[in-house]
Amino acid sequence: MNDFITVKSIVDENFQDYKKASMFIAFPKCDFKCFQELGLEISGCQNYEILKMPDIKIKIDKVFERYVKNPITEAVILGGLEPFFNFDEVYNLISYFRQKNCNDDFVIYTGYYPNEVENYIEKLKKFKNIIIKFGRFIPKSASVFDKILGVKLASKNQFAEKIS
Ligand code: SF4
Repeated sequence: MNDFITVKSIVDENFQDYKKASMFIAFPKCDFKCFQELGLEISGCQNYEILKMPDIKIKIDKVFERYVKNPITEAVILGGLEPFFNFDEVYNLISYFRQKNCNDDFVIYTGYYPNEVENYIEKLKKFKNIIIKFGRFIPKSASVFDKILGVKLASKNQFAEKIS
């Protein structure tokens, strides 16, 4: 098992993407499906600029230490680009936190729908307190308030589920 993850950035305190104060980890890859499928320029993605940032390899134990040292945060958000492009790293990261008896919420922001990532959902169900926000970003869609996340999502087709 790799003991590191590759990220674009880690923000220690995020208050806008979940109802609890969270560490936000930005994963480094996406196929830009939300835009490709609509025949739109991928540069329209709000996360496109993140692609240009350098990749950072960081050891999972360092991420954990950084998280537990901060008394403000109660959850970890894995977001964009597309965390499921690096599913093994997502899995190893959550697995490490659970081995250390940290059962805090993990919130995964994916552009996939549940039927596209069934195998990943099944694997993650073994961990407690996993929440997944599903669905493509659709430009010009109305936003929608999501009760599970406690925040507004950008497109009305998007929704969150607590899978475990
Ligand atoms: S999944 Fe996220 S990063 Fe990828 S195209 Fe959609 S909005 Fe952009």
